[in-house]
Amino acid sequence: MTDVRALIDDHARAVEQDVISWRHTLHEHPELPNREEKTAAMVARHLTGLGFDTVRTGVAGHGVIGVLHGGDGDRVMGLRADMDALPVKELQDVPFRSTVVDEDYPDGPFPVAHMCGHDVHTAVLMGAASVLAGLREHLPGTVKMIFQPAEEGPPITEDGGADLMVRDGALENPRPDMMFVLHTSPFPAGMLNYSAGHALASSDYLSIRVEGQGVHGSTPWMGKDPMPVAAEIITALGQVYRQVPANDAMTISIGKVVDSGRFNVIGDGVELIGTIRVLQDEILDDVHARVDRIASHVAAAHGLTATTTFRQHVPSVHNDPAWLDRILPTARRVMGDKHVQPSPPTLGYDDASLFVNPVGGAYMLLGGQDTEVADGRLQPVDGGRGLWPNHNPHFYFDDGVLVDGVRLHSHVTYDFLTGAI
Ligand SMILES: [Zn+2]
Ligand SMILES: [Zn+2]
Repeated sequence: MTDVRALIDDHARAVEQDVISWRHTLHEHPELPNREEKTAAMVARHLTGLGFDTVRTGVAGHGVIGVLHGGDGDRVMGLRADMDALPVKELQDVPFRSTVVDEDYPDGPFPVAHMCGHDVHTAVLMGAASVLAGLREHLPGTVKMIFQPAEEGPPITEDGGADLMVRDGALENPRPDMMFVLHTSPFPAGMLNYSAGHALASSDYLSIRVEGQGVHGSTPWMGKDPMPVAAEIITALGQVYRQVPANDAMTISIGKVVDSGRFNVIGDGVELIGTIRVLQDEILDDVHARVDRIASHVAAAHGLTATTTFRQHVPSVHNDPAWLDRILPTARRVMGDKHVQPSPPTLGYDDASLFVNPVGGAYMLLGGQDTEVADGRLQPVDGGRGLWPNHNPHFYFDDGVLVDGVRLHSHVTYDFLTGAI
């Protein structure tokens, strides 16, 4: 009988150098959310070349969905990689460093770089596509690969991301019976981390628009100055932390203030733009109500109005413990027992929740940095490249780990299709 698991490892090793070079190419040519045109074309070409049965392009913008039928078997395995980069200027000194600037992006121009590791996700899933297509006669079932655009959120004036993919039918024809998603992390290179229950936060884009009345800067009493009210609202939002139980993790951050004044003009309005994160989706409505109440009442106290809106909602990623129990033996076999560890949940978000939560499966973190966990804390190791979290301009990921990502996707798929998971 053929040892398919050994074959998977052989095929993964055979494709390793290609995966590394795809990753470098993607890294050097990053594209912002909803602009993943070249990345998607590269993925689609690859899947088509491998003989995938269907390769659907243009899903929710630049999304690509590939379906590969193996032999007899009813199960459908779903794998997801996101493809978009961030508006961050890369400060890592690597030969494949990005110097790309997107001149035309809304509110831009922006420097563009893969500082969340989605280049790694895309290259690794392309590698798994090679491995699984090469062994398709040994796969008793179907593999569905979802290459997603705009995970980092599309421009606020555009639709996109996992939500639009799902509305565009990404989870149907065929519907996956399990989803497996990997994301890069600054954990030690070669480490696989997971969190049971709520693994990542629920997120909302927050906008608070304070309406005033513009006037000459020398005579504020002749108008309605929105600026001090906006400042007071920012400060007052800190009180929400004292109104929800301290054990319910939550953050509210205002990252941007947009006004229409100048040094001698009081503008007619100020918009506060930020994000709300909660770990338990259940408390989100309550937090919304409190934010709205604080904003409107602080504004009312000064005779102004404030309108609060919440957009781009992303539910938290939920790792069902029963699914984890099924998947962990495979993960441990692939990575080695001590390289698979639980880790605390974070207030980052990933709209992979819209694939994982309704279907089942798991979302796990693949470590790729020169770090170690010592005294319960993640720390850089001496002489290494440092500890640089995702979205930091110094974020990096060790090429040597890419093959592990390919192996994980491939083994989890094989084990699920054969019923071992
Ligand atoms: Zn990110
Ligand atoms: Zn990411």
